[in-house]
Formats: sequence, C-alpha cells, structure tokens
Amino acid sequence: MNACHLFLSGFMSFAMLMSPYSMHVCADISSKKSEAIMENFKYQSEHFSICSSEDKKEEVLEIIPKLEEKYRIVASHLKNELTDLVEVKVYSNLDEFHKVIGWISAPDWVRGRAKDGVIEVVLEDYETSSRAIELIIHETTHIITQNMNLDWKYIPPVLWEGIATYEAGQSNLKNNLHTLKEIPSIEELFSLRQNKNLYPLAYSFVEFLIQNFGYEKIIEILNINYKDNEFDFFFLQNEYSTWAALLRAEIDLF
Ligand SMILES: [Zn+2]
Repeated sequence: MNACHLFLSGFMSFAMLMSPYSMHVCADISSKKSEAIMENFKYQSEHFSICSSEDKKEEVLEIIPKLEEKYRIVASHLKNELTDLVEVKVYSNLDEFHKVIGWISAPDWVRGRAKDGVIEVVLEDYETSSRAIELIIHETTHIITQNMNLDWKYIPPVLWEGIATYEAGQSNLKNNLHTLKEIPSIEELFSLRQNKNLYPLAYSFVEFLIQNFGYEKIIEILNINYKDNEFDFFFLQNEYSTWAALLRAEIDLF
C-alpha cells in the first residue's frame, strides 16, 4: 500500500456486524509490556479487522457500522470492491502514535498512516472519531483504487489523493486553497508530489470532475495506463481550464 501520512455517518444491521465478533489477543500495537498486549481488543466486521487497546472498545464498536456503510458507498461509486479485510490499528492518543512512527515532534495533524498493508490511526474520543473514520476511508479508497488499476503506482498523485480525499469527505481541505498564490498549470497540477497544496488541489479537482461529469468519468480516468502514457492527462485540458477558472474566481473572493 502506498505510504501516506494524513492530516488531517446511517447504520447497517448491527446484528450482522456482531456475528463475526471476537475478542482476543492481537499483535502488539504500541506497548512493549506483555500485560498491556493482553488487554488488546480485536474486532472483525465484514470488511475491517480493527485492533485497539481495551479502553477503546466502545469507540471502535461505535465506528464500525459507519465504516461499513461508508465503504459500501465508495465501492458502489467506484464499481469495485475490497478483496481482503482492511487491517486497522487504533492508537489511544496522539503522542503514543507519534512515538510509534518515530516522529515525536510531529504536528497534530499527523494522525494516521498506511504502512505495510495496515492502516494506523489515532482514535481519542467520540468527538474526534469522525477524523479517524475519514482517515480509514481515505486509505480504504486507495486500496480499492489499487484493485482498479494494476499500475496504480503511476496514477498522478492529484488523482490518487483526489479520489481518496473526496470519498473520505475531507472537504475541509479546501479551506487551504485560499492561501494559494496562483493556480498551477495543468503540467504543474499533474506533477504535484507530496506538498502542502497537493491534498487541497486534489480534492478540489476531483470534486469538480465528479460533480460535473459523474463517477463514470473518474473511473475511466483512474483506469488509464499512466505507466506507458505519462502525459495522457492533456486529454483533460478542457476540464482543467474550466476548473482553474472557477477556482481562480473563488479565490479572488477572499
Ligand atoms: Zn492518501
């Protein structure tokens, strides 16, 4: 899975989710003390396998139906499905997570990552659980996108992160667009790598494509073989021009 640091609800049948329920020892998620490991809590639903410390049990049980519901929406949007369970490790607090990732002085918006096929996320309380859900759905969207395109590593980051942030509902990212000094050219947009403008621009561009042309368009674009057609994005010139003009007008209002 693509390593990805992020800064960054209806219900299905709960009985259906409870059936594969199990509570047992799971892999060490944070503490080196074996007693603490014995307190770990593991829950498996239809598509997610979540491991947390025992004290996060209530919060985990609370978010599972929301994750399943959101997953089904993403799967129907992208007309693709997970083939394996999504493994999630939940951390109880931000400092603990920052220690695990070896970045003690990380800013507060670093709240999760995907590494070696496992999503790691901070879940502090009910109030902040929506952020954990966003992060898990973001990474789950990456996994579904991988199933769509075998050469997914070559998908331009603006599309790769755009579909993940849009499906995860991370619309607050757009607030950062008002600090843009200028709108990137189409070449710059499709060459964006990890930088602070990538996520807001990616969200905005993919939102524009989906709202104006529907999911069929984005599915078609995500399926392109970018490995052999690196500059194929020029076929999106017209869409880019309209989006850029709208964004410029919006930013000028501030
Ligand atoms: Zn991502």
